[in-house]
Amino acid sequence: MSLSGDPAVAGVLAAPRLWPARVTIDLDAIAHNVGVLREHVGGAALMAVVKADAYGHGLVPSARAALAGGACSLGVAQASEAVALRRAGVTDPVLTWLVAPGMDLAPLVEQDIEVAASTPWTLQALAEAARATGTVAVTQLKVDTGLGRNGASALPLPSRDQGTDWNDLVALAVRLSAEGVLRVKGIFSHFAYADAPGHPTVRAQQATFAEAVALAERAGLEPEVRHLSNSAATLTSPEATWDMVRPGLSVYGLSPVPDVGSAADFGLRPAMRVSADVAVVKRLPAGQGVSYGHTYAVDHESTFVDVPLGYADGVPRHASNAGPVQVAGARRRVSGRVCMDQFVVDVGDDPVVVGDEVVLFGSGEDSEPTAQEWADAAGTISYEIVTRFGPRVPRHYVGTLAGELA
Ligand SMILES: *Cc1c(COP(=O)(O)O)cnc(C)c1O
Repeated sequence: MSLSGDPAVAGVLAAPRLWPARVTIDLDAIAHNVGVLREHVGGAALMAVVKADAYGHGLVPSARAALAGGACSLGVAQASEAVALRRAGVTDPVLTWLVAPGMDLAPLVEQDIEVAASTPWTLQALAEAARATGTVAVTQLKVDTGLGRNGASALPLPSRDQGTDWNDLVALAVRLSAEGVLRVKGIFSHFAYADAPGHPTVRAQQATFAEAVALAERAGLEPEVRHLSNSAATLTSPEATWDMVRPGLSVYGLSPVPDVGSAADFGLRPAMRVSADVAVVKRLPAGQGVSYGHTYAVDHESTFVDVPLGYADGVPRHASNAGPVQVAGARRRVSGRVCMDQFVVDVGDDPVVVGDEVVLFGSGEDSEPTAQEWADAAGTISYEIVTRFGPRVPRHYVGTLAGELA
């Protein structure tokens, strides 16, 4: 067992007073963003995606904030995330979509967790769990309309031995529903190119989805919810909304399509702020390189500060000499390489002192950098920036909802 696997030890590892850095989450921003997203799709229902510890924002408080903001259900990838929500007392509908063969689905069925099915084995295992527990298993069928990832294939397969055909999955679901062990609550699919509005695959996938839904309904299924849209489609292709949208990133206030519009352009408020206290301040002579490999040096004397966050905490090493920060109010950059636990910033002649705050990113409202700027600096997407911040950094919840929910 890892050290952090022991709850008592984990508490100490993330103790705010022993750790001069923090991830601050504005729960009101999450609730606000859910409302904004629903407006984009004419008030349609919204499933808030809270996988990956709510994109690094903290699973349970974020889920509660999204529900308070008007989400009707929650979506997660792993079954363990769904169970964690139930254990925390969340009773709202929860869908998990990454179960794997060999997993015991009975505990999920017993806890009224909806399990997405892409394959016959999932439906068979759900039916078996329902028979064993004397309940009805609830599923949502996942159809591959062109992403080429999971989902039963609505497009012709070269061989039915390798992959599941949508017709076959629907036929099995109809049989198990008739037996009374299965309820097909929904049908859903996922876009390949939602972040490129107008891409021909967006329209093609919508058409394929419409056919797949029609086929299932002709076969006798009566899904309550049919949904396709992630954040990008919710914001840029509202015509793809069926009964519900399924956004993740935008719930946390980040734009999935930074080239089309910023978070502010869409009325979204970034919920995560990452900051640390300056641990060391030192004046270094001209020409002194800093951090491993001395990849940064200046030809004049300057003041350097050491920031106690590194790549083990989620600061991308790819942002060496590039990641933007705000130190005591001024914009600066990471100087030299990001190390495991710390990085250095050249602050010139600014009168920075130990304990001053360094903001890596936040909402941008106080001129601090945003997660999108870090993504640009590290050559990645904002999804990866926020999900990287791991459990070692204490989470701190703010906003009027924080007292009630966190
Ligand atoms: C992650 C995920 C989403 C949410 O995607 P965003 O781009 O973060 O909005 C929706 N549906 C599925 C199946 C996902 O895996």
